[in-house]
Amino acid sequence: MLTGAFALHALTRAERARLRRHLAACRACAQEVGEFAETAARLGVAAALPAPPELRRQVLARIATAPRSSAAARPAAPPRPGRRTSVRVNLAARVHPPRGCDLG
Ligand SMILES: [Zn+2]
Repeated sequence: MLTGAFALHALTRAERARLRRHLAACRACAQEVGEFAETAARLGVAAALPAPPELRRQVLARIATAPRSSAAARPAAPPRPGRRTSVRVNLAARVHPPRGCDLG
């Protein structure tokens, strides 16, 4: 299902209409859309607020000393002060219907 994309308003008009019809009859997918929308809203609020400087310093220090998961991992470039980093959440990638969906 495209519940993540629906919650992010990333579907075409036809896809949106089709999913709306499904959501009217499928509680599992309707709940999932609600959860995605809530998460997207929280991420939007979080991204709009700058992290407290001490928290930012601590997180970057932990990242710099964290063990790498593979030998091929390259060190990330240090973030520039004042530059906002982005968090990519792949909400649109979900293609399997949630448990309880009659399409699954
Ligand atoms: Zn469903």
